Amino acid sequence: MGLMKDTLKHRGMRNQLAEVLFEKGITDLKVLEAIKSIPRHLFIDSGFEGHAYQDKAFPIGADQTISQPYTVAFQTGLLQLKPNQKILEIGTGSGYQTAVLLHYKVKVFTIERQSELFKKTKIFFEKMGYRPKKIIFGDGYKGLPEEAPFDAIIVTAGAPEVPKPLMAQLKIGGKLVIPVGLEDQIMTMFVRKSEKEFEKKEFGSFRFVPLLEDKN
Ligand code: SAH
Repeated sequence: MGLMKDTLKHRGMRNQLAEVLFEKGITDLKVLEAIKSIPRHLFIDSGFEGHAYQDKAFPIGADQTISQPYTVAFQTGLLQLKPNQKILEIGTGSGYQTAVLLHYKVKVFTIERQSELFKKTKIFFEKMGYRPKKIIFGDGYKGLPEEAPFDAIIVTAGAPEVPKPLMAQLKIGGKLVIPVGLEDQIMTMFVRKSEKEFEKKEFGSFRFVPLLEDKN
């Protein structure tokens, strides 16, 4: 994880990345501001920092990847976050998406099922001063019933199907953003309209590592 160094050069590369994302259609100013301020190179192993500010996913160990910046920005934009909201993230991974969420001053609960990544990222958050409410080692399929309901739930791995517990843990008016599918995924958003009704919207094709069930 590098020397925790952030320089003017890194800043310049981040501004360029934000520019690239803007050209690809990311117009949410707050997301672009997050991209400009969060040192993504510190979330991947040192030695690969040349890759950090390209708009690409990148391996982070344990067969997992840090999501592509465009994807992070796109998913975050869909959530329309407001300060103090309660957010559940499934798939902590490198913690980069978590840091983007924290930029909105929301309360983040984040779940990771790979113990290696869970431990590494927990320590990293402490070093960096990122403060999610809780980082949990466990199976995100089940959500986090003891903290429900949430204003938003974001899933950062490809789900073969939508886990029912996640729908159940949304507030009325709350949003679930989840890539659904096996090989490719359709970015899907469910907005809870009432106890029983959900509005579903689809946003095109993405590619994620799979959301895996039950392995602790
Ligand atoms: N947001 C992360 C994305 C990492 S990739 C980042 O940008 O770095 C997806 C992550 O989801 C991986 O770390 C993977 O281990 C995790 N994951 C997969 N299935 C999961 C599950 N059932 N519960 C929680 N995390 C899961």
